[in-house]
Amino acid sequence: MEKQALLSATGPQDYDDSINPAPLPASSVAAFPEVPQNEEWASAPPAEMLDDVAGYEGTIAGGEGGFVLPPISITETTRRDEPRPQREWSIPTITEDMAREAFIQFASSKCCYSSRPAKEMVFRDLRAFNTYRYRLESFTESRSTEWKMIPFKGQFVDSSAYGMAPLPWNIIVPMPPMFQDNVSKVPVPHTSSTKGCHSCMSLGKIACNKCTATGMVKCWVCKGRGYQFSDDRCTHCNGTGLQRCDNCSGQGTRACQTCRGSGQLMLFIQLTVQWKNNIFEGIADRQSGLPLELYGKINGQSIFTEQQSRVNPIVSFPDNQINQASQTAIQEHATQLARTSPIIQQRQTIEFIPITQVQYEWKEKEYTYFTCGTENRVYAPDYPAKCCCCSIL
Ligand SMILES: [Zn+2]
Ligand SMILES: [Zn+2]
Ligand SMILES: [Zn+2]
Repeated sequence: MEKQALLSATGPQDYDDSINPAPLPASSVAAFPEVPQNEEWASAPPAEMLDDVAGYEGTIAGGEGGFVLPPISITETTRRDEPRPQREWSIPTITEDMAREAFIQFASSKCCYSSRPAKEMVFRDLRAFNTYRYRLESFTESRSTEWKMIPFKGQFVDSSAYGMAPLPWNIIVPMPPMFQDNVSKVPVPHTSSTKGCHSCMSLGKIACNKCTATGMVKCWVCKGRGYQFSDDRCTHCNGTGLQRCDNCSGQGTRACQTCRGSGQLMLFIQLTVQWKNNIFEGIADRQSGLPLELYGKINGQSIFTEQQSRVNPIVSFPDNQINQASQTAIQEHATQLARTSPIIQQRQTIEFIPITQVQYEWKEKEYTYFTCGTENRVYAPDYPAKCCCCSIL
């Protein structure tokens, strides 16, 4: 349709060499990869333009569905059940003196707190809770493929003539730092080809729809009549009733957005490698009364770290909740991740989180506060004399 409108409106004499670009000299060949990462133009080629590439039969254009299962050889875990060494657990403690000191510092550091309650209070009870946080990190990799297209401007075409396309999991992609999320996109070698642009029938330009490819639109001054008021000739259009179309600068055509005017596209399969740090966290709750959501803000002291391709469940920690968390976490990650996203490396840590609950009296009323974490931060939700709400740590 567009082609017909174009031809009838402008005539063949308007077509020059720029429509079918001349072959570019060898020196202008650009090195691959040159994958533009902005997706402002349609980057998904129509299905009928896609080549058959062995090993990539399920790859579609511009979809989410191109997820590639890793070969069994990669996901098979070689977990060695070595005898576990007996560990000596070294667990720090917090004293009541440290808790008292923290509260006095806390009250004096808050601009909007009166320090009177902290100074005048009477301690009723101080209870230390040894709390632990268990964390399992499983660093995984997953791969997906999809067809992409970019305007062809004479860059190097890494086609099947250069060899067989390697299978998705055989492509070597440099690995980023571990235990951090990351994404890398690379073209699959030997899958590129060039095609005529489907949007513009390889012409590089499409008819302007504002002027229906005539290059002229109605004069805006006389509304196309050619005269103004009574019979005064319109000076803006010299009585023709027409003016140049500003959408196409009077050309009647515009550069095709799909091929950026080149008339040619380069198609290739893009491999997306996604690295993800999957985290399981568990708190051995000692019923201290501290809101659970606050634990995320508290720094603990690391008392155990282990990192290897597969970690074994911790079994001998004095607090059994941690042993159970470790077993659950490792099991969960193994079933959730291992088949689709091979685990590259695991790390498990135990943190000690000192929490002290303090009950005190001020002006014959009872209050409670907590000192938390290695920095002895204070949580005092009911501090009796303050003017704003900076009570949360
Ligand atoms: Zn136009
Ligand atoms: Zn006019
Ligand atoms: Zn085009």
